[in-house]
Amino acid sequence: MELWVATTNKGKHREIRELFLGLPIEVRAASELPAYTAPPENGATFQDNARIKARFLKAMKQDAWILADDSGLEVEALKGLPGVHSARYAGPKARDVENNSKLLKAMQLQSTGENRLATMKCVMCLISPDGQEHFFEGLLKGQIGRDMRGQNGFGYDPVFIADGNQKTMAELTLAEKNRISHRGQALKAVKAFLQTQLN
Ligand code: IMP
Repeated sequence: MELWVATTNKGKHREIRELFLGLPIEVRAASELPAYTAPPENGATFQDNARIKARFLKAMKQDAWILADDSGLEVEALKGLPGVHSARYAGPKARDVENNSKLLKAMQLQSTGENRLATMKCVMCLISPDGQEHFFEGLLKGQIGRDMRGQNGFGYDPVFIADGNQKTMAELTLAEKNRISHRGQALKAVKAFLQTQLN
């Protein structure tokens, strides 16, 4: 079975491939399609954006299974920001390091003092070859650290410390991150669902 993932993010593709190892599922990425350009993510929620990305790729790969995720970080003291704007928090083409710097500065400026609580969220939209849409969610609670630490992962991993951990997500190995991450949890639900479809 081919599963086409609506992402051009190499970090996400790697994580998804790793989680599906051992299943008869070949994970392909939208970035392999020369005509693919990511659609505008103008939804108000992670679910809206996951659906937008999945439907867009479905139009190009009509007979395949399609998987799209939308994910991001919600910081309690910043009223849920960066939220659906996570990728573009510091500007339309912001690099991870710029988003992280902006977040650390915003945490210093916020008036709620020591509240560093944050949640990584992920919503996945899976579309079957016959066009049915299914949604799966994952959450990971934690805290925003005081500086950037670690070289692994991507996005806000260097500043996010999951509950029960001392290390940032960027200091964990990919396998350790997948075991606990918001995306890992949503993907496990997707994987369980796909296994029932393969039987
Ligand atoms: P998306 O590609 O539209 O889902 O945007 C997700 C953005 O949220 C990424 O560019 C990252 O900034 C952030 N993000 C999503 N997942 C993770 C993660 O696993 N670790 C750190 N940051 C993440």
